[in-house]
Amino acid sequence: ATQQALADAAAGVSLRSVTKKYGSFTAVENLTLDIPAGNYCCLLGPSGCGKTTALRTIAGHEEVTSGDILIGDRRVNDIPAAKRNTSMMFQSYALFPHKSIWENVEFGLKMRKLPEQERRTRVGEMLEMVGLSHVAERKPNMLSGGQQQRIALARALATRPQVLMLDEPLSALDENLRVKMRTELRRIQKQFGMTFIQVTHHVEEAFSLSDMVVVMTHGRIDQVATPSELFNTPASQFVAKFMGDNNIFTGKVVNSVADTSLDLIQLEVEGIGTLFCRGYAAPVGSIAACSIRPDLMQIEPYLPTVPIQSSLAANQITARIVAVEMTGFVTRVSLMAEATGQEILYKARTTDWDANALTEGQLVVLSWSKDNCVFLAA
Ligand code: ATP
Repeated sequence: ATQQALADAAAGVSLRSVTKKYGSFTAVENLTLDIPAGNYCCLLGPSGCGKTTALRTIAGHEEVTSGDILIGDRRVNDIPAAKRNTSMMFQSYALFPHKSIWENVEFGLKMRKLPEQERRTRVGEMLEMVGLSHVAERKPNMLSGGQQQRIALARALATRPQVLMLDEPLSALDENLRVKMRTELRRIQKQFGMTFIQVTHHVEEAFSLSDMVVVMTHGRIDQVATPSELFNTPASQFVAKFMGDNNIFTGKVVNSVADTSLDLIQLEVEGIGTLFCRGYAAPVGSIAACSIRPDLMQIEPYLPTVPIQSSLAANQITARIVAVEMTGFVTRVSLMAEATGQEILYKARTTDWDANALTEGQLVVLSWSKDNCVFLAA
């Protein structure tokens, strides 16, 4: 019953040209976005990009300067936060310290004057959902951080909101708990088919939670996509850098030919030569860039007497290793392009990595496939 009720409540959210100004400062500019019901959407971006402001306008904690906000089919611009039928979960769980866990979860239902029987059923179901029925009588300070977080979630969902908003909900937790809790959040959101909108500056968190990610910079949307689209085909240099430490090469488009579903584009990069990449609509003569993920490159020792025969031969450059850093599953190799001095990052799975094979100061050849190389318009 709870599952059905929560799924039925879930509504989509639409922003139509939403702008929010503080005095003359524009925090959010002309945001247009559709989040379908039942989606887990993360607003992702660096500090100050406007993601919290965007969330607060949806919740009704900020008035928009212009534009419209719709929850379901209802325009909510003039509806106060408390009447929007949304819930908000914060970084600090903000549980009432003197109330029991049960009373904390029950709080919103009492405010809404639900009959006692209904309250009892719902609180029971919510505590069961987060696996904490056995702590109902305790006070919040008798629970661990992770348990308090779960209770905050139970409380936020007890009112069966159309949308749950989460403002950096995991950032107060230590790394282990953070990973556990995000699995838990995703499980509950999926199981009950609810609409979740979360603010985070943590790329991995956004990737692991989201159906859709909204990448923001300077109050604007940079790209809206699924995690794998963002990772594999970033739409801008900012997204390419922010999502995956991609290597970016800037050059001039010298040729662009229709090929398979994407065009094959040739960039002339000063000092490096010709690089091939995939994309759309590249005007010949324009300055543009291409992006390659650091884990999709191949690295080989440079042997001056042997012609290079990489299996990925389309793109290659010589570079010198500056540093080798083992970070766990991944080994990061910092390099410098021999011809231009550009910094390049190469990543290998540590298990594939023969740490003795390559050393600092060594000259190597990096190569990568044209099919993994993403064209970025200027
Ligand atoms: P963070 O991750 O650091 O919270 P954010 O992306 O969530 O950043 P916002 O909190 O939305 O960013 O803030 C966006 C911009 O608007 C910032 O430059 C901030 O200083 C400014 N801002 C936010 N609230 C106000 C306010 N009440 N008055 C004036 N400026 C504000």
